[in-house]
Amino acid sequence: MKNKPVKKVVVVGGGTAGWLAAASIAKLLGDNLQITLIESDEIGTIGVGEATIPTMLVLHHLLKINEQEFMSAVHGSFKLGISFENWGALGDKYIHSFGVTGKGCWAAGFHHFWLKARKLGLSGDYGNYCTELMAAKSDRFAVSVNNEKLNYAYHFDAGLYANFMRKIAEESNVRRLEGKIINVVTDEVSGFISAVRLDSGQRIEGDLFVDCSGFASLIIDKTLNTEYDDWSNWLPCDRAIAIQTSATSEPVPYTRSIAKDAGWQWRIPLQSRVGNGLVYCSSYITDADAESVLLSSVDGNALTKPRLIKFRTGQRKLHWNKNCIALGLAAGFVEPLESTSIHMVQKGIIRLLQMFPFDGIKVADKDEFNHQMREEFLFIRDFIVLHYHLTKRTDTNFWNHCRSMAIPETLRHRLELFRESGRIFEKDRDLFAENSWAQVMLGQGLMPAHYHPIVNMMADAELTFFLNNIESQAINRVTQLPKHQHFIDKYCKAIA
Ligand SMILES: Cc1cc2nc3c(=O)[nH]c(=O)nc-3n(C[C@H](O)[C@H](O)[C@H](O)COP(=O)(O)OP(=O)(O)OC[C@H]3O[C@@H](n4cnc5c(N)ncnc54)[C@H](O)[C@@H]3O)c2cc1C
Repeated sequence: MKNKPVKKVVVVGGGTAGWLAAASIAKLLGDNLQITLIESDEIGTIGVGEATIPTMLVLHHLLKINEQEFMSAVHGSFKLGISFENWGALGDKYIHSFGVTGKGCWAAGFHHFWLKARKLGLSGDYGNYCTELMAAKSDRFAVSVNNEKLNYAYHFDAGLYANFMRKIAEESNVRRLEGKIINVVTDEVSGFISAVRLDSGQRIEGDLFVDCSGFASLIIDKTLNTEYDDWSNWLPCDRAIAIQTSATSEPVPYTRSIAKDAGWQWRIPLQSRVGNGLVYCSSYITDADAESVLLSSVDGNALTKPRLIKFRTGQRKLHWNKNCIALGLAAGFVEPLESTSIHMVQKGIIRLLQMFPFDGIKVADKDEFNHQMREEFLFIRDFIVLHYHLTKRTDTNFWNHCRSMAIPETLRHRLELFRESGRIFEKDRDLFAENSWAQVMLGQGLMPAHYHPIVNMMADAELTFFLNNIESQAINRVTQLPKHQHFIDKYCKAIA
């Protein structure tokens, strides 16, 4: 059983994770595999997950997806970053953009130059030195300017996204079965999964099972009992309420994340509507109050009923256990503050394609897969905890808790380094580069005590010229961009 070649792949679940996995395996590894996807219309999908990050373009490129067709089909809008409002303090606002801010040197990132200029009273906002950020603020967008591509991602309708991937998967010969899985059959000796049974009585056998069953975690948890690393002590939010509303204005090219009394609210503008939700901690606010907070903070008419989603933040200790690989919500969940979940689905898919066990499942592959997935999740966890912990808010018990709570040692070290010397070291497999860490730490008001002395090799006049030059280049690029809505109308207007 263990070293059996893998020919039959069974994908359990037809949400974003399931269809994206099925489409990718079928289209990119292809003909020698028999791929079946099972989904239950009655159970449905989570129906949220509509904001992404630029890494999404990588897998889309591999799948040869035409961006214009795609964006029309999913009613998409473009995203240049995330606007964080009321996080550092009530009334504060900063954008974590996908672009590069300024230009650093080998010893010190750009923020060191900016910090010195700030001390001298010479600099503008940190974000003034980033084209994508300035474009987001001015509500302008195009995929490129002066033949240079911008760093951007998408907002899309989750249901339409799964449909789009389903089409690619079915065109690549993925077989779809509708039905509820009521039983998972394991081999008595090896404990490997041999088949799943549907409520219709049908039995589907497989060599490899990709568990994309969402929070139900049918195989990785309910069958294989894979342990879960619970991070709720660092990320106490455990619920969300989601609602879709009609659009009352043109979509802005960024996601909004607005801190509330006991959590935060997302706003994801699509061409056709707006996705809204409140992520909150049930120890500090009741579900009923959370719903009122959300409903009183949305614009437009409700298109859906408010939906309550409960979650537990953390990840499986093994993402690949026996002949099951878990992707998406079945593998773990960190709240969508930085839109990282679908990214992790893609990382899991690409990694699976790279390590695909054609000749049977090998322990070394499995261990490596698990090590890489776990490490990436940990970096994301730290980055999300950072947003909560760096608040100065004292207006509610929730924020008092976040500000004073113990944090992971890895994050504590990063914060100390930055606080003392402005240093940020990039780590392998950390999704967030130096510029992201700098944008959030500075954005939430953490100013380092010192900048790197190498900056002093630049005279003040030279430093001013250097910064002004970067700023005017960013302004120049932004003024060449059309309005976001105008670009959408010409490039990828939604297909009704
Ligand atoms: C509140 C919230 C907001 C989010 N926002 C974002 C975001 O902005 N950006 C982002 O990247 N991610 C976001 N995510 C995460 C994102 O929604 C998921 O990563 C993504 O949708 C993948 O979900 P999934 O496919 O794993 O699960 P689901 O969509 O839940 O799909 C599970 C599938 O399994 C099937 N299934 C379950 N049990 C059975 C059974 N017994 N028999 C047959 N089929 C079964 C279901 O029918 C369904 O097809 C968010 C998540 C939450 C909770």
